[in-house]
Amino acid sequence: MSVIDLRSDTVTQPTPQMLDAMTRADTGDDVYGEDPTVNRLEAELAKRLGFAAALFVPTGTMSNLLGLMAHCERGDEYIVGQQAHTYKYEGGGAAVLGSIQPQPLEVQADGSLDLDQVAAAIKPDDFHFARTRLLALENTMQGKVLPLEYLARARRFTQDNGLALHLDGARLYNAAVRLGVDAREITRYFDSVSVCLSKGLGAPVGSVLCGSVELIGKARRLRKMVGGGMRQAGLLAAAGLYALDHHVERLADDHANAQFLAEGLRGAGFSVEPVQTNMVYVQMGDRAEAIKAFAAERGIKLSAAARLRMVTHMDVNRSQIEQVIATFVEFSRK
Ligand SMILES: *Cc1c(COP(=O)(O)O)cnc(C)c1O
Repeated sequence: MSVIDLRSDTVTQPTPQMLDAMTRADTGDDVYGEDPTVNRLEAELAKRLGFAAALFVPTGTMSNLLGLMAHCERGDEYIVGQQAHTYKYEGGGAAVLGSIQPQPLEVQADGSLDLDQVAAAIKPDDFHFARTRLLALENTMQGKVLPLEYLARARRFTQDNGLALHLDGARLYNAAVRLGVDAREITRYFDSVSVCLSKGLGAPVGSVLCGSVELIGKARRLRKMVGGGMRQAGLLAAAGLYALDHHVERLADDHANAQFLAEGLRGAGFSVEPVQTNMVYVQMGDRAEAIKAFAAERGIKLSAAARLRMVTHMDVNRSQIEQVIATFVEFSRK
């Protein structure tokens, strides 16, 4: 029985074609800037997202950290969502390693930050305060896509207030596919963007930070400092290039599977939040541990949470989603 793992879209295995691209990759020492495949990935993603430069790093956590540290000096502040990955799920790295003070704000129902609240959180230029330098957004945010009109307003707002604008675009391509736009229509509003290759795109490892030549130059120095300078990293970059060429459009299948799962669970009487991309949130209340154990016995891996998150990805197909729905139905009748 093959396991159905809905805990995250990070669990995908490289396909045979991706492994083939990896084994055929030309490599060199990337710390010397001599890995042709890493250089190609960085140039390609910079071009696709409309930036002058890009940097390949092992993880999205490092990509965000380097972005924040390249924008902010010690004693600076960034404004970020209370539920945002960079604030909540990255070990406090910006504060610990960058001496950057986070100013978290509650995320709105649509995944955005209220710009009036952001305005109120910007500190006056006074030595009592940290210097507010940056606004960081996330897209998708818990599977929600930020409206393009909001991004345009956030861009104008940050320009008017002398802030830089960073995007944690771990799932940028899920947002672009959902909106039916080129990813550039999202990234054009930002000074820097971090993209994960190892989420829905299905690469085993890797993220890319995009920005200006100056910003990426700073980030490159910081990457070495935090131990992210890899050598023959072209093996990994080749997986990323393969994913960008072959795994972007298929994200629509993951979104359709998530919709299908949500409808099936609603039909079985579960309370399911509206689905936009590849994440399904179900209210399990105090039955979280019970459904996790029940599903595990049937070869389905779930997280245990009162607000249970299930994530679709390239290693779960429609018939497996049907099995998941059947399992929830069986559970509800117990
Ligand atoms: C996964 C993720 C990251 C980075 O995660 P890594 O596991 O470090 O690659 C950053 N932001 C968001 C929103 C994510 O989902």
